[in-house]
Amino acid sequence: MWDGRVSQCHSDYLEKNILGDARKQSLKEIWKGREFERLRALMRDAERLTLGPCQTCCDGGETKEEAIQVGDRKIKMNLYVDQQLDIKAMDARLGSKR
Ligand code: SF4
Repeated sequence: MWDGRVSQCHSDYLEKNILGDARKQSLKEIWKGREFERLRALMRDAERLTLGPCQTCCDGGETKEEAIQVGDRKIKMNLYVDQQLDIKAMDARLGSKR
């Protein structure tokens, strides 16, 4: 983070899982520290969704390619599985800018 705190990954921009502080610890200490060991164990055990950052992260989510109609155009998108898009609302927003 901007102030030296170390989060679990680049997607934790909301600072939900801070694992160390580079102002007070070396990077090696943080990397080998208990909090990082716990993170690695959760990853190994496929338990990452118990972590706040991973619960809201879209990196690594399952996607599928789908064609959708937006206005008069048909476009291909990679949609997150189980994500419900409100195409009518998207259309309405696009329409309001025309
Ligand atoms: S799922 Fe997202 S928040 Fe969790 S470790 Fe991967 S990139 Fe980071």
